Amino acid sequence: MIASKGYAAQTPTSDLAPWEFERRDVGEYDIQIEIMFCGVCHSDLHQIKNDWFPGIFPMVPGHEIVGKITAIGSKVTKFKVGEIAGVGCMVDSCRTCENCTDGLEQYCTVGSNQTYNGLGKDGTPTYGGYSNNIVVHEDFTLGIKATENLAAIAPLLCAGITTYSPLRHWKVGKGHKLAVLGLGGLGHMAVKFGVSFGAEVTVLSTSPEKEAAAKALGAHHFVVTSDRKQIDSVKNSFNFILDTVSAEHNMNMYLSLLKRDGVHIIVGIPNKPHQVSAFSLLAGRRSLAGSGIGGIKETQEMLDYCAEHNIVSDVEVIAMQDITHAYDRMIKGDVRYRFVIDSATL
Ligand code: NAP
Ligand code: ZN
Ligand code: ZN
Repeated sequence: MIASKGYAAQTPTSDLAPWEFERRDVGEYDIQIEIMFCGVCHSDLHQIKNDWFPGIFPMVPGHEIVGKITAIGSKVTKFKVGEIAGVGCMVDSCRTCENCTDGLEQYCTVGSNQTYNGLGKDGTPTYGGYSNNIVVHEDFTLGIKATENLAAIAPLLCAGITTYSPLRHWKVGKGHKLAVLGLGGLGHMAVKFGVSFGAEVTVLSTSPEKEAAAKALGAHHFVVTSDRKQIDSVKNSFNFILDTVSAEHNMNMYLSLLKRDGVHIIVGIPNKPHQVSAFSLLAGRRSLAGSGIGGIKETQEMLDYCAEHNIVSDVEVIAMQDITHAYDRMIKGDVRYRFVIDSATL
């Protein structure tokens, strides 16, 4: 077994604190990564607080992992020691169901193996990237060509792919009006991709003070959602809304902003079910849809697209010890736009 150290929540009511644990030895097809940076996703906070379902504790969160490969198994062909690699939200899947064979392992019908708060193929709990190392099958390891600015690349492994995938699936681009709801970790990546794909992008935000930053990210318009007049001015106007909001919000008000045949795509996961009026959908033949992260193939495609188009995340690098303060700021919507842990501070 490999001795590892990280930050764990021992229970859903305790703060993260240093914890030592073991990872499996490097198997024939495994990669061992010394973690350099790990992004802080709002899903980490939801999961350590049992917002969605009872979790597996102790829990070491973190699924936006970038680091250096320090060992490989004897049958590994895709990676070499010394290369930079990434790990996202999944570390394995059944590999045989229809969705896995289509390269959409995130929709594995028996459930993919989550990077943390899940069980590995061997049935033991998985531990995430708020730690110094990780062991992953090569098929679920992502290749990263860059050697610099790695802190800003880490959030692509979740916030990046979670917004890239639905925009690609619905072919959002030139001629489309895209609204990005919520300007946090996911939202700011959605703005960058939406602009890059040629859409006219509007940010819908509860935070008026984010307007200048939204425009700097490339957004064409900014609407403060608490301002009735501003909301009325964008009724029936969007082809797509990409909803990244992590807390309860008024779905019917947002649906009214879609044009005929518009699609409201949910990626944010509040802890309570949405209340949706049938009228909000049938008026204008609108659709309500959802999207979960992205498959391994598409994640690699997204990383390569970002490298080619100079797209990275806007990050605030923090020491591991500052995680609780970072969570407090995240709850208040005060993130510019992703916290990333410098693993050297562990
Ligand atoms: P984040 O950085 O905290 O951003 C969320 C943003 O939502 C906030 O910055 C804020 O933006 C807005 N917001 C917060 N509370 C709100 C409220 N009550 N009403 C309206 N807007 C509110 O979080 P994140 O890391 O981007 O994650 C966002 C959500 O996506 C989380 O629920 C996370 O679990 C989920 N997620 C889903 C997937 C997936 O596969 N579908 C993957 C990753 C994450 P403004 O200040 O601009 O209003
Ligand atoms: Zn995430
Ligand atoms: Zn499967």
